[in-house]
Amino acid sequence: MARIPSPIEQIHDPLFEEKGMEVWIKRDDLIHPHIMGNKWRKLKYNILHVRESHLAGIVTFGGAYSNHIAATAAACAANQLPSIGIIRGDELSPDSNPTLRFASDQGMKLQFVSRNEYRQLKENHHQLQQTHPGYLILPEGGTNELAIRGCQEIWTEINQSFDYAITSVGTGGTMAGLLKAMSGEGKLIGISALKGNFIHSEFRNMLQHYNIPFENYELMDQWHFGGYGKVTDGLVTFINDTKEKIKVLFDPIYTAKMYFAVTKLIETNYFPSNSKIVLIHTGGLQGIAGFIEKQKKNILL
Ligand SMILES: *Cc1c(COP(=O)(O)O)cnc(C)c1O
Repeated sequence: MARIPSPIEQIHDPLFEEKGMEVWIKRDDLIHPHIMGNKWRKLKYNILHVRESHLAGIVTFGGAYSNHIAATAAACAANQLPSIGIIRGDELSPDSNPTLRFASDQGMKLQFVSRNEYRQLKENHHQLQQTHPGYLILPEGGTNELAIRGCQEIWTEINQSFDYAITSVGTGGTMAGLLKAMSGEGKLIGISALKGNFIHSEFRNMLQHYNIPFENYELMDQWHFGGYGKVTDGLVTFINDTKEKIKVLFDPIYTAKMYFAVTKLIETNYFPSNSKIVLIHTGGLQGIAGFIEKQKKNILL
């Protein structure tokens, strides 16, 4: 069912050739139609753990359009495991958007809570564990030790050497896994989808927490297009033009911002000439339907 190892392809763009860059893309968006990209990577060992330890199921968290919620619902359904999604926003229902409809159709029980309650439940898993005994509680975004282990495999599947690897960043879990797997070789660049410089200290704390000693990375916080979930008309046009040009579809929340950053960095000679670069397509395409429905901006699927 899952396409593992995911394909890796070279991107041909006259700009890259002119600048002497060799750019490849690791197509984790092609792993699975519903359990996509880094969410598949993050769930792999968590699902195995639930099965092997005979846990009752998975409880997790997410916003209305969460890729992690959709992927967890599908992964649990595929493994006949119960799943519960705590959703931020008590005004929502399973019919509010395509992501929630999908999760609900996969059998995930959705619990809609106020923003306050969401924050409390997220910060104190103890309370949730008491109401859901025997369940594995996955944090928002799905990042934990087993998720990081899964994300290491994005890198270990690539059997060529690269000077740079570039990924989109939300919680930083994917970046942490990549950094660990690279073990000091090459340079990892993370493009944050979130606004704010808190991400730098959060990521450092994450590395410390998981004992990842490597520093060959740069986390960039200037490519968020106004903040998490914010999408400009220019970005929508960029997504459609890119699809046309290189036949790869990027999602507006994470991967398109990453690819936009890459093209700008290459244009402005950030990379030394003759660099070999691999981009990680972390998926996220499930969110496009909901984005179109909400914002009435057309991304050409
Ligand atoms: C969740 C997600 C991310 C962020 O991953 P983190 O490990 O939380 O940094 C990036 N890209 C896509 C498409 C995602 O769905």
